[in-house]
Amino acid sequence: HEKLLGGFRRTSDRLSENLTGLFTKASLDRETLDEIEDALIASDLGPATAARIRERLAENRFERGLSEAQVKGIVAEEIEKVLAPVAEPLDVDAFPRPQVILVIGVNGSGKTTTIAKLARLFLEQDYGVMLAAGDTFRAAAIEQLRIWADRIGVPIMAGPEGGDAAGIVWDAVKQATATGIDVLIVDTAGRLQNKRELMDELAKIRRVLGRLNPEAPHDVVLVLDATTGQNALSQIEVFKEVAGVTGLVMTKLDGTARGGVLVAAAEKFGMPIHAIGVGEGMDDLRPFDAREVARMIAG
Ligand code: GDP
Repeated sequence: HEKLLGGFRRTSDRLSENLTGLFTKASLDRETLDEIEDALIASDLGPATAARIRERLAENRFERGLSEAQVKGIVAEEIEKVLAPVAEPLDVDAFPRPQVILVIGVNGSGKTTTIAKLARLFLEQDYGVMLAAGDTFRAAAIEQLRIWADRIGVPIMAGPEGGDAAGIVWDAVKQATATGIDVLIVDTAGRLQNKRELMDELAKIRRVLGRLNPEAPHDVVLVLDATTGQNALSQIEVFKEVAGVTGLVMTKLDGTARGGVLVAAAEKFGMPIHAIGVGEGMDDLRPFDAREVARMIAG
């Protein structure tokens, strides 16, 4: 909780900083409302949410303006309205087993760490978990996933660097099925530089999965680094197109002033946000709680 609070404090501090001086104005004239709207957009909240907050503020015709607390209360309420419909934990009760979760995202976004965190979470809920090292382009990615698998104590299917990702996935599903695994989490290459190849590779993984289990993949989870701010939004756009994303996990919310981008993402795409990353450790994944996050962002 402290980490989360710490992370969002930087986001809310920036919002407060951006709004400073505006609260104390005698009345909320058009110019002040414009400035507030700009400040909200500068805090990564997204234009539609910013416009709605402006409208709410404009409705309040107080003679002496609104206090900082009143403005923040309205900001929190409006953010919560955007976040509540997308706060949706990953549901891992799909049958037939195993449920297959593809995890995608650009290198460095926190994909490997998030896979480890998810594995740990499901394991704690008594599900049998297995990992598949489908990012065969980077030896380091395979190695890193192995280290996590050992540390957490879950089986992993991996092959050599440069190997066939779809082949690894095939083997993984076979083994997971044979050993009664509930949840198979598949790492994938995050090479957005080569969209065509990435698309082909993901399509091949899908074909292989479909042959073994027509419902798979059950989830395609995109991992996004919150510190990249608005860039995260363009990543959603691209991955939606190449990979058919079904939900999001946003990482590195433990030390960024750009946490507002969660709101912009929810507003623009309306896609489920499953969880948020608030640290480098395997227990640093939190369920996404709309009210909690809204209040933290508003400060
Ligand atoms: P990948 O390349 O997408 O697989 O990224 P990694 O999982 O290797 O993560 C890249 C870096 O980000 C590592 O140093 C991680 O420890 C770090 N990281 C991942 N998630 C978080 C998070 O939620 N908070 C913080 N502070 N660091 C994170």
